[in-house]
Amino acid sequence: MKISDQYCAKHLYIAGRVQGVGFRPFIHHHAKHYELSGWVRNSIAGVEICIEGTPENCRHFIHTLKENAPKASVVSQFHQKDTDLNHYKDFQILHSNNGEGEVTNISPDIAVCERCLLDIKTQEHRYDYPFTNCTHCGPRFSIIRDLPYDRKKTSMVDFTMCEACKREYKDINDRRFHAQPVSCIRCGPQYKWVSKTSQEMKWDKILKELAGFIKQGKIIAIKSTGGFQLICDAENQEAIMRLRNSKQRHVKPFAVMFSNIQSIRKFARLSLVETQLLQSWRRPVVVLQAISSPSQELNRGFSTIGAILPYTPLHYLLMEQISNRPVVFTSANLKGNPLIRDNQKALELLEQDHCDAVLYHNRQVENTLDDSIVQSANDHRIIIRRARGYVPEPVYVRGNVEGILALGADMKNTFCIGKDQRAILSQYIGDLDHYEVFQRYKNTIEKYKALFRFQPKCIVSDLHPQYHSSIYARQAGSNENHPSCKKISVQHHHAHIASVMAEHGLDEQVIGVAMDGTGYGEDGNIWGSEFMICDLQHFERMAHMDYLPLAGGEKAIREPWRIAIVIAYEIFGENYHEILFPVLNYTKQKHIQVLKAWQQKINIAYSCGMGRLFDVVAVLLNLLENADFEGEGPLKLENIHISTKASYPFCKSAGTYDYLTVLKGVFNDILAGVPASEISGKFHNSIANMIIQEVQTLAKNTGISKVILSGGVFQNRVLINNVLPALQTKGYQVYINEQVPCNDGGISLGQLMIASKKI
Ligand code: ZN
Ligand code: FE
Repeated sequence: MKISDQYCAKHLYIAGRVQGVGFRPFIHHHAKHYELSGWVRNSIAGVEICIEGTPENCRHFIHTLKENAPKASVVSQFHQKDTDLNHYKDFQILHSNNGEGEVTNISPDIAVCERCLLDIKTQEHRYDYPFTNCTHCGPRFSIIRDLPYDRKKTSMVDFTMCEACKREYKDINDRRFHAQPVSCIRCGPQYKWVSKTSQEMKWDKILKELAGFIKQGKIIAIKSTGGFQLICDAENQEAIMRLRNSKQRHVKPFAVMFSNIQSIRKFARLSLVETQLLQSWRRPVVVLQAISSPSQELNRGFSTIGAILPYTPLHYLLMEQISNRPVVFTSANLKGNPLIRDNQKALELLEQDHCDAVLYHNRQVENTLDDSIVQSANDHRIIIRRARGYVPEPVYVRGNVEGILALGADMKNTFCIGKDQRAILSQYIGDLDHYEVFQRYKNTIEKYKALFRFQPKCIVSDLHPQYHSSIYARQAGSNENHPSCKKISVQHHHAHIASVMAEHGLDEQVIGVAMDGTGYGEDGNIWGSEFMICDLQHFERMAHMDYLPLAGGEKAIREPWRIAIVIAYEIFGENYHEILFPVLNYTKQKHIQVLKAWQQKINIAYSCGMGRLFDVVAVLLNLLENADFEGEGPLKLENIHISTKASYPFCKSAGTYDYLTVLKGVFNDILAGVPASEISGKFHNSIANMIIQEVQTLAKNTGISKVILSGGVFQNRVLINNVLPALQTKGYQVYINEQVPCNDGGISLGQLMIASKKI
């Protein structure tokens, strides 16, 4: 028998996240191990492999490939077919196949690995080198200009590898084999330090300056992988106050970078899930229950702390220099501006005295990425902001969504593009109300179109006619770049529910519960406490909370005391101030005008957003007057709550839940001297009871047992911990957002899914 009779040849096609995660070296290594010949190469669609060897070895190889793939890789599709023997002499890595058509998944940025951290203490050419990376770690999406993922299509193209790096890059047995961003002290990107008084290029000196500045309470803008951050000593009250002033961020807690898990434990309780989230290669900011705080100024009375572990060698080197002191770690942008990416913009911060030094480098940030924010509730991961470490990982959905561009909502914006069965959400972009952010939004859409070979056939926007994204959709249709583009608009809360359905592959009638802040309703009012029966095409609004009066129009969303005044008047009549003023220490003057305008119906609006009711209760408990950020009221109430069995009654008539009974209960308790923490606990229970009661009613009337919970209010952990298990115990299948935010950052996914069904 000839040898070739015992051999077989196979062609393998693998799609998923298989580029930039050490997949080809892994393939090469195991092909050698099983004495296979053939080749492997990257293609736009993923990785192609050809193997020749004994049938048994081929089988082993395929098994290993499926079971032991590198940790940041994801195999979403695997095809194999028999092919003719070519009698390859050995196993080779071939050049990329630059075909058009399908597009492979791009890896998100990966936090520096343990072995690279060791390398920066042992390798002479990488000693303390802040850009050290390997096939298992380092920047990916943030440096990619085009596909396939090769060095010449990243911002590393500006750096020519030295001999040592080239050797590692070419050595199949080296951890840096084909690591596209490979570099070292001699050939890679360099940091530069600029303060008001000095400039420095020498790295050891820079590190000392940096550490000195932090210890002196100064603020520094540093460039990491996805853009700039502002950092300062987390124990320095004055530094943080200055940072708050610069960012016009008066209340919202800042994230803190800690050197390791042990130092986080001093300030927060950690569950297993939270520990895993903190340590994962995605390295998000994790919102934790605080037991104390490095500084009062940091979280201004909030009981949570946002913690993040170092994710680049720079961060580790910094921690080492400052003896593991925690540092405030917040994105470098001033209010109304997108995250800073360019060195010049960061230097402007220095000129304007918003920081004392800038640490920048000469590698271009191709895709700007904020730090992601997650929390855990009921041992579920809840994503609050989805950016570095998660993007551009697709959500796999049912059916083909190719050619759909979903524009998202105007707040916490992300957009979403459809590629075959993948919904690719953009990174968090911000509030489109701001001109600069809107420019970044438009540019990012163009970038995605080029990068993912995407041409929109259908553009989906929110129902809100005045959203910037809706206006963009209207203009885009008349633009020659989008010829014959279909246009669809989708109701905000239907999109929230559909985002969960998309994640879980649901395509049927469900009970949707959207508890939210603000979303444009079909009746022109602001919605946000919706109970609906829906599928991916249609929804029917079955119940909601009664509309709250927004005295002063949408201004009342930022100034919820205006709502409280009108409601107090509704409850107590002319004598409302006798009840309200002792509670709130308000002066009468401030409110007379509001009430007058309300009575004359000047500039009024209505909202049934659940977030507004939380705001009003927060006002009545003296926790809030004007909201500095969206969700402040709910967060503050969550913070102070204590658990109790008691609740306030929620009366329902004709499909609406009347909040007045709840608020009367709150007033009575305040006047009776019940502690705010208990009132908050009772209030949370009231909302939970209302949700559970209505779900039961709808389930009984329709026979539907699948329940979807979404909308920004479900970021509230007390609420989700209350509602989710209770519904499950009653036998419902309950679904929540896991891969995308339940706030408006996940809207674009729902829009895309609804549009795919409608066209
Ligand atoms: Zn080098
Ligand atoms: Fe929303």
